Amino acid sequence: MTSIAIDGPAGAGKSTIAQSVARTLEFIYVDTGALYRAVGLFALQNNIPHTDDAALIPRLSEIKVELDYQDGQQLIFLNGRDVTGDIRGPEMGLIASDVSAFPAVRDFLLGLQREMTTKYNVIMDGRDIGTVVLPGAQLKIFLTATPEDRAMRRYKEFIAKGSKITYDQVLGDIQRRDANDIGRATAPLKPAQDAVMLDTTGNEFEQSVAQVLKIIRERGLA
Ligand code: C5P
Repeated sequence: MTSIAIDGPAGAGKSTIAQSVARTLEFIYVDTGALYRAVGLFALQNNIPHTDDAALIPRLSEIKVELDYQDGQQLIFLNGRDVTGDIRGPEMGLIASDVSAFPAVRDFLLGLQREMTTKYNVIMDGRDIGTVVLPGAQLKIFLTATPEDRAMRRYKEFIAKGSKITYDQVLGDIQRRDANDIGRATAPLKPAQDAVMLDTTGNEFEQSVAQVLKIIRERGLA
């Protein structure tokens, strides 16, 4: 089985690029951010403050997260209910970032992520895939872009979905999430030593996809 890790900050284009590459190569695309978002959603639905690990950790045993695939799209289930759409609200990113800082939450989701690589060729995106989840991945890519570029991409996505959010709010959220994700003690966002760095600032989506496919083919992975 082949595993490709794509890490990087929010809005760098990881998920859209990884999804497109996975479709071309007939790999399974695993969006690990969705797992943290599902845990965040559980906290929200059960009135558990998402910054309170003492309240959340004992409740993890009540959570069952499952992934499924339909036409190459990842679906995520929280205790049997499809929450693929619910985890995408603008507020869910920061909530996911808060719960993802707790080591017990990271441990809780580790097995599911690794299990996917035993069954499928995967392209997996997240923050710590190359450093912690799949240190043995055949290829690790770290995608970056300026905060302004990333915020503009996310802003356009939210507006297209009918959200009333402003660009400044999205930029503020991205900056807070960067600080959270880079600054946390457990599995912080950072490139693996052997990661290929790719800056997507100013790129059209197709350019980034072509660059990633080129790296994969040069490595003989497809
Ligand atoms: O990628 P996405 O924006 O959906 O991730 C939501 C949050 O989940 C991130 O801000 C990050 O804090 C957390 N996350 C993580 N490790 C991953 C994937 C996501 O800590 N592998």
